Amino acid sequence: MEQKDLFGLALGLTDPWFVTEARLDLEEEKTDGVRAGELHLYLDFRPGGRFACSECGTTGLEVHDTTERTWQHLNFFQHRAWLHARTPRTRCGRCGVHLASVPWARPNSGFTLLFEAFALMLAVQMPVLAASRLLKITDGRLWRILNAYVERARTKIDMSQVSMVAVDETSSRRGHTYVSLFADPRPAERKVLFVTEGKDQSTFERFLADFKAHGGKAEAVTDVVADMSAAFAAGAAKCFPGADLTHDKFHAMKLVSEAVDKTRRLEVASRPELKGTRYIFLKNPLNLTEAQQQRWDQLKDGNLRTLKAYRLYLAFRDIWDYSPEMAPTALGRWISWALRSRIEPMVKAARTIRQHVPSILRVLSNDLTTAVMEGINSLVQAAKARARGYRNPDNFITIIYLIAGKLDLRFAHTK
Ligand SMILES: [Zn+2]
Repeated sequence: MEQKDLFGLALGLTDPWFVTEARLDLEEEKTDGVRAGELHLYLDFRPGGRFACSECGTTGLEVHDTTERTWQHLNFFQHRAWLHARTPRTRCGRCGVHLASVPWARPNSGFTLLFEAFALMLAVQMPVLAASRLLKITDGRLWRILNAYVERARTKIDMSQVSMVAVDETSSRRGHTYVSLFADPRPAERKVLFVTEGKDQSTFERFLADFKAHGGKAEAVTDVVADMSAAFAAGAAKCFPGADLTHDKFHAMKLVSEAVDKTRRLEVASRPELKGTRYIFLKNPLNLTEAQQQRWDQLKDGNLRTLKAYRLYLAFRDIWDYSPEMAPTALGRWISWALRSRIEPMVKAARTIRQHVPSILRVLSNDLTTAVMEGINSLVQAAKARARGYRNPDNFITIIYLIAGKLDLRFAHTK
């Protein structure tokens, strides 16, 4: 077997394609002793070869003419590798003259499928900018690969079985861009279905259009899970009028925990012993580090408004341990306690909670209690880190789909 045939086997080429030449161009020896060069593989097809139309998939078409194309391939050891081929154009009765599909690349891509598969793998493991440096391509080209795969994979998503929808908003790392995420919260699914810019009511309308385009039925949606924002409540009522609104535990807890933090920030000016204690009051007391425990022991018997607020927070956490029958009474008592506390941030939080009691307690009866949004939120935090240095909101959205969308990214040549 000749060397060029070995490369043909390695590339998985099948008739009519074959390797005509394999050439390794080595540069002068580098100072570190590594000779980096380029591997060039030249491909051709045997005379009389037939091809498929890249538009409609019709097979067995004759070659109309050919054009020279080049693709960047996975590195061959330390050497960059390139494929070159005289690529046929076909004339299809339906679609006209088009470049034929080649088995090693997507139409109009300058990279081979293997290169792109490796790029996708890197992009979900590390920041895109770092992945692009490793691949020695610009991050703009890498983003184009990621966008193309995500866009294509999303066309295959089936939303016809979705009966519950969870929505949450998040901002880019620098807070320049807000996006709203719509997810399937059912335990077996737990994936992001749709991401769109903004956090207002219109995000629901865009989701509904996308949902319907993927086979979703608005009337089949029985539950919408959201935070307590008026915009999401209005969007849910308009787009999913038959669904019950649930506020998940994660958002309710966050509201009360933020009230503790505001109380502490108001008090710290007059009570310097509260300086640097932010994380103590955001934590479960059982999870304190040793240093935090020492600070806590010094604070815990003091006459601090922050402590009063923190006790309210701890009591609020316990409400989810009550049975669905007892929880409304417990929450009612908590609300009166908080309203009488005369701690302004807590009074405000309690008023908000009072307006949403049925939707907050619904988690006790519809299985949505289990930190669904918390889980999705942590995936999104990971996405933010990957998208560092991203150039526009679309890239941020792409990376959320890549990490939290459970997409099928395999590339198939059939449309
Ligand atoms: Zn065609």
